Amino acid sequence: MARLAPRPVATHETTLTPLQESCEACGQPLWVAYHSHRDVMTLSGQWHLTLVIHQCVQPDCPNYHRRHRPEAEGHWALPHGEFGLDVLALIGQWRFREHRSVPEMHQGGSVRVTAAVVSRQQLFSAEELQPRDYLQWRNLQAQSQQREECRRQ
Ligand SMILES: [Zn+2]
Repeated sequence: MARLAPRPVATHETTLTPLQESCEACGQPLWVAYHSHRDVMTLSGQWHLTLVIHQCVQPDCPNYHRRHRPEAEGHWALPHGEFGLDVLALIGQWRFREHRSVPEMHQGGSVRVTAAVVSRQQLFSAEELQPRDYLQWRNLQAQSQQREECRRQ
């Protein structure tokens, strides 16, 4: 499903550089091939990551033009992931340790986070954390609100 709202603007940014500075095959220094960019939503906010990509430039090296991405990139998110590992861990904790239902997670956190890697009804895409079926999503929200109102009375 296409994104319904624009991606939030990054409020934090950082640059990640590979730790390895020389080619493991020929020992020559690695050069910067290009800079890559990605945005990751974490519990601390939206981050804009600038990734420095290195490569060996010795034409006779077996690793010639082989790209080296920053090792720290894997600490932020899964490959091609839009959400940080901390967000996925929080949802996993809510769902599998605390056995919260989707409506309970709605009330405990933001709608974006509670969306649901965790939904038994598979309403949401794990990667986008957005509803696949918007009508069902709205019905689920309405049911959740009704239950909450019944509890208050
Ligand atoms: Zn090399």
